[in-house]
Amino acid sequence: MSITENLAWVRERMQAACARSGRIVDQVRLVAVSKTKPTAAIEEAAAAGQTIFGESYVQEFMDKEKEIREPVEWHFVGALQTNKVKYLAGKVAMIHSVDRLHLAKEISRQWGKIDRTIDLLVQVNLGHEATKAGTTEEDLASLVRQIASLPHLRIKGLMTLPPYCDDPEEVRPFFQELRRLARHLDTLVIPGVDMKELSMGMTHDFEAAIEEGATLIRVGTAIFGERQYKK
Ligand SMILES: *Cc1c(COP(=O)(O)O)cnc(C)c1O
Repeated sequence: MSITENLAWVRERMQAACARSGRIVDQVRLVAVSKTKPTAAIEEAAAAGQTIFGESYVQEFMDKEKEIREPVEWHFVGALQTNKVKYLAGKVAMIHSVDRLHLAKEISRQWGKIDRTIDLLVQVNLGHEATKAGTTEEDLASLVRQIASLPHLRIKGLMTLPPYCDDPEEVRPFFQELRRLARHLDTLVIPGVDMKELSMGMTHDFEAAIEEGATLIRVGTAIFGERQYKK
């Protein structure tokens, strides 16, 4: 199947998941995760109407961003080293993977230099997996408070990358937990914090994520095919 056909299929499944859960499909945005894929693949998806693209590696993002002519919106979804933040400033609309104050401070500083504001999501490591980024549930509220006090950024919600399970039903409790955490943070009414966005769900489990309230789903393989190499 072509990228255009894959996108149509993903959009159909998004529609169906929204219908099942009484949601409006406009409330769910598709982030096409194009990491490791060539710019030609991004251009084909853009020609088919896809507007938001997610990248995970700074150098790769910089190379592609220079080449792509279409007016796409870039989201950064991968683990981010503080010393590389400067390369993203002004070029990405949202960073999904903020999990420590030091990183948020550098983001604030870099966007401050260009006198702009960036939307952030705070990544939560719900599975407590040592190999995955993300703050713990215990530290979440205090981290959100500290980040929210910084200028040049807005916290828009939470992101999670749950443990991989063959059965998407086993992942569903993690999605429910992320939504519960966001609701809890909303009740704290922290200035500058708006828990509108839940970034959760990938190729394997995005339908369950939508049913549990995802507003941003991050889908790579179902759109672009298997990745040839795993970075
Ligand atoms: C690669 C990646 C995805 C996409 O995963 P697929 O299973 O290919 O859909 C989503 N989110 C993050 C953070 C990723 O790194």
